[in-house]
Amino acid sequence: MFALVAAALARLPWQKAVPVPVPEPAPSTLIPTIVTILVCWVLPLALLISVNKSKRTKPASDFDAVVYGAGPVGAAVALGLQERGHRVCVREKRTENQVVIDAGKSINLSLSTRGRALLTEIGAWDDLESTLIPMVSRRFTDGSVERYREPLLSINRNLLTIKLIQAAEAAGVTFEYGTGYAQGDVDAATGTVRLGPERQCKPRVIVGCDGVHGKLCKLINPREPERSSRASEWGYFELSIPPAGTASMSEEAFNNFHIWPGRGSGQGHFIVGLPNHDGSITLTLFALMDDMARRFEATADGAADQFRQYLAEAYGAGLDGLAVGVEEAIAGGFQRIWLNDHERLAGELGSSGTFVFLFGDAALGMEQFLGLAVNLGFEGAHRGFLEHWARAGPKDETFWRGLVRARNHLNAGAKALQRASSKNAASMRDGCDDPLGKAVRAVLEETHGTADIDQSGFESTHDWWSFCTVPLKVVESVVDAQDELVGKIKEVVKAARAGGDGADAGTLSEPEKEKVLALAKSGVGPLLALRAQLVKEHQATMQACFA
Ligand SMILES: Cc1cc2nc3c(=O)[nH]c(=O)nc-3n(C[C@H](O)[C@H](O)[C@H](O)COP(=O)(O)OP(=O)(O)OC[C@H]3O[C@@H](n4cnc5c(N)ncnc54)[C@H](O)[C@@H]3O)c2cc1C
Repeated sequence: MFALVAAALARLPWQKAVPVPVPEPAPSTLIPTIVTILVCWVLPLALLISVNKSKRTKPASDFDAVVYGAGPVGAAVALGLQERGHRVCVREKRTENQVVIDAGKSINLSLSTRGRALLTEIGAWDDLESTLIPMVSRRFTDGSVERYREPLLSINRNLLTIKLIQAAEAAGVTFEYGTGYAQGDVDAATGTVRLGPERQCKPRVIVGCDGVHGKLCKLINPREPERSSRASEWGYFELSIPPAGTASMSEEAFNNFHIWPGRGSGQGHFIVGLPNHDGSITLTLFALMDDMARRFEATADGAADQFRQYLAEAYGAGLDGLAVGVEEAIAGGFQRIWLNDHERLAGELGSSGTFVFLFGDAALGMEQFLGLAVNLGFEGAHRGFLEHWARAGPKDETFWRGLVRARNHLNAGAKALQRASSKNAASMRDGCDDPLGKAVRAVLEETHGTADIDQSGFESTHDWWSFCTVPLKVVESVVDAQDELVGKIKEVVKAARAGGDGADAGTLSEPEKEKVLALAKSGVGPLLALRAQLVKEHQATMQACFA
C-alpha cells in the first residue's frame, strides 16, 4: 500500500511537469555572443537568485500535509500520515517542546477498541501497551461491578501525547512549536500555507487538531460565528487519590472504571475514577453547571473545608480524606465542558486540490468527556481517515473528495454522541439502570449475547457505546430499539408483581426469567435485522461517497 501511496503522491497535480518551450535553432554567428552572455551574466544571476530564494523560501513541495495542534489526536494523525508516505509538518501553538500541560491537571483518557485500532495501525501500540491500565468493569461505591465485555484502557493523556510525538518525530514528522495557526495563514482559495516569513508550502491536506476552541474550522465553515464552540450544561472538577490512598486496594478492585454516584447534597452529581500507572486514581466530579458553579467560591472563607464536607456527605467511602487537589480544583473553578456542532468536518479549499479535515476536540468538542470512553477523537481519526486508506485505487483527488464526503456523513455521529453522553451520564449518576431493568437485561444477555459484540442480540448499553465497531449512529438506533424492548418486558414483570413497593426489586424468580425469555423471543430477530439493515445502509452510503 505504501508503494501505491508513494506512486499517487508522485502524481500530485501541483507537481505536474510544466512544458518547457523548445527554442528555435540559433544562427551559428550568434553562438559566441550567446555563450558570453550566458556565462558572464545569466548563469551568475540565476545562481544568485536561486541561492537567495533557497535561503528565504523552502520549495513549495516541502510538506504534503500540515497538521495544526500537537495534542494526542494531532500527533496520532501526523504519525498516521507520515507512515502513509506524506511529509508532515505539525504546527503547535505551545512554545514548550513536548511538554503537554492542561491547566496543571493530569488527565486520563480511556481507550476502547477504536483507540486501540488507531494506535495499532500507526505502529504506536507496542510502545504504549505497558503504560495502559486495563479497566475490566464499572465498579460502584458499594463494591458491585458490571463487567465490560473487554477491558477499557486507562492512560495518562500527557504520557500518551508525548509518546505519540516521539514516535512521529522518529518517523520523520517535523514539529514546529510556537507556530499556532492564525487567521490568514492558509489561503482559502489556493490552499497555500504560510509557514513563516516568506516561507510557504502547498500541501495536499491540512488537518485541524487544534482543540475544542480551534480556529481551522472557519476555513470550511466560514459562516459560523467567531466562537463556534458552546458550553454544555455539564461541568467538572478534577481531583485525585494519590498512590498511598490506594495501597490497600487489591488489583482486582483497582483495575476498574470507578463510579461514585452522588446523594443528598450531591444528588444528580457523580464522580468517575480512572486508575493510573503510578497507583493513583484520577477523579472527575461531574455536575450540571447551574447546580455547582457557585457552590464553592475560590475566594470564600473555608471553601475547601466545605468541599470536603460535601465529598463526605455526597459520596462517603472516605473520599473526603482520600482525595487530593481540592484547593487547586476550587482555585481553578468549576470547569466547563465545551462542545462543537460544526456543519462540516471536512472540505476542499476552492478547487485547489487542498483538503481540510477536523479531528479530535476540534471536530466535536469534549463530548467524550462524560466518561463514555467512546473516544471520538481517536475513533474519528481512525474511522474517518486511516480506515479508508485500505480502499483500492489511487489516492488521487477523487479519493480525497470521497473522504471529504465520508467524513461529513460520519458527522451525524456527533449528534448521536451527544445523546449517548446524556444517557450515559444519567446511567452513571443513577448507579446504572434500575434493578429490575438490570435483571431483565442480564437474563437476555446470557441467552442472546455472543462473544462478538458486533453480532450479539442484547448487550449492556455501555458496552455498545464503548466497544461496538459500527458507527455510533447505528449503535444509537439499535440501543434505542433494545431499550424499548427491555422496557416493555420490565413493565409486564412489574405488572405481574402487582406494581407497588418492591416491584422493581433486583432478582427475578425462575418463572419470571422464563417469562422474560418468552417475551423477548419475538423481539430478538427484528433487533438483529434492524442492526444488519442499518450497517448495510451505512456501508452503501460510504461506498457511494467514493464512487
Ligand atoms: C478532565 C478531562 C477528562 C477527559 N476524559 C476523557 C476520557 O476519559 N476519554 C476520552 O476519550 N477523552 C477524555 N477527555 C477528552 C480528551 O482530553 C480530549 O478528547 C483529547 O484531549 C482531545 O485531544 P485533541 O488532540 O483533539 O485536543 P487537545 O488535547 O486539546 O490538543 C489540541 C492542541 O492544539 C493546540 N492548539 C490550540 N490552538 C492552536 C492553534 N491555533 N494552532 C496550533 N495549535 C493549536 C493546543 O495547544 C493543543 O496542544 C477528557 C478531557 C478532560 C478535560
